[in-house]
Amino acid sequence: MLKTQETVLEIDLKALKHNFEHLKSKLQNNTKFLAVVKAFGYGSDSCEIGNYLEALGVDYFAVAYTQEGIALRKAGITKPILVLHPQAVNLKALITHSLEPSLYNAKILKEFIKIATAEKQNDYPVHIKFNTGLNRLGFEYNDIDYIVSEIEKTDTLKVTSIFSHIAASEDLDEKEFTLHQIANFNTISKKIIEKLDYKPMLHMCNTSGILNYPDAHFDMVRSGIGLYGFGNSEKENKNLTPIATLKTVISQIHNIEKGESVGYNRAFKSNSFLKTATLPIGHADGIGRQYGNGKGFVTIHGKQAPIVGNVCMDMIMVNITNIDCKEGDEVIIFDQNNTTAEHLAETTNTISYELITSISQRVKRILLK
Ligand SMILES: *Cc1c(COP(=O)(O)O)cnc(C)c1O
Repeated sequence: MLKTQETVLEIDLKALKHNFEHLKSKLQNNTKFLAVVKAFGYGSDSCEIGNYLEALGVDYFAVAYTQEGIALRKAGITKPILVLHPQAVNLKALITHSLEPSLYNAKILKEFIKIATAEKQNDYPVHIKFNTGLNRLGFEYNDIDYIVSEIEKTDTLKVTSIFSHIAASEDLDEKEFTLHQIANFNTISKKIIEKLDYKPMLHMCNTSGILNYPDAHFDMVRSGIGLYGFGNSEKENKNLTPIATLKTVISQIHNIEKGESVGYNRAFKSNSFLKTATLPIGHADGIGRQYGNGKGFVTIHGKQAPIVGNVCMDMIMVNITNIDCKEGDEVIIFDQNNTTAEHLAETTNTISYELITSISQRVKRILLK
């Protein structure tokens, strides 16, 4: 790998291919694969990831918001794109860019029919979302008659899929609850299919659902975090490779005498001599203040250097007292095997999802092909 001279996020497409193939190997041959590329592809680069996965044969994409889908269309993605959480104000743009909405309540269903009718659409593909226990978005079982009657009044839309989302697919202590969600989903989809005169696709599993509930794969699965290299358990992590490496360089080294302080608000005061390195990465780049004051660390020449004092907007200072290094040397924030984003996230009791999606757009992305 190249030695960096600034803060960069390297994205390893070979690792992405490996993760995709591993997850696909868990599916039946005819189960479709939807790649979740919301939030800039979990903080990587949704357009590059999307194009690469499209070439590998992914069947579907999903994003959270309409603007994210438009960015994928502008990057040349042609596969269907499900917008998981569209707002009424964006529905016209969604249609213009051939994006497919998740319709999760009466309000968004009515709005969509109104706008699709005005746009003279016919059989426009939509996805009906049901709440089976997460209590976040989705219609209820009792809404089925209403949904079907609204849909039958118009030719504007066609239900491409019926789907739901598992609340605790990674947590096997909640297996009973999850099986109950799956049973609920079966009941709901059976009833709605009886009432429509065609059979939409069914889908329910995210990454941990794919790995833990093979009987709930239905017609398609939706994977996000697994593609980026995390399996939400030590066992599953072994089969996946994080795609991203966040690295930076040492800008300056300081000798700190006993009694001196480091950083804003003098949050760190030394009680002995130490050496610090100042790095060009801060909370505006995605390393939150919770990583400061000894919680988080970076790796320099294979050795851990804890963050000293408060995280600044554009910089952190780390303790290099026992590390042989100099200005210009490379620093690893997280990588693909020794210190992954999940390891670093654990130092502040958060999860890989939060850390990787926080890496701000200011950080240069470098693709390794
Ligand atoms: C984000 C999201 C996913 C992907 O979940 P992972 O745990 O990252 O695989 C799947 N489905 C829905 C509805 C989501 O919001």
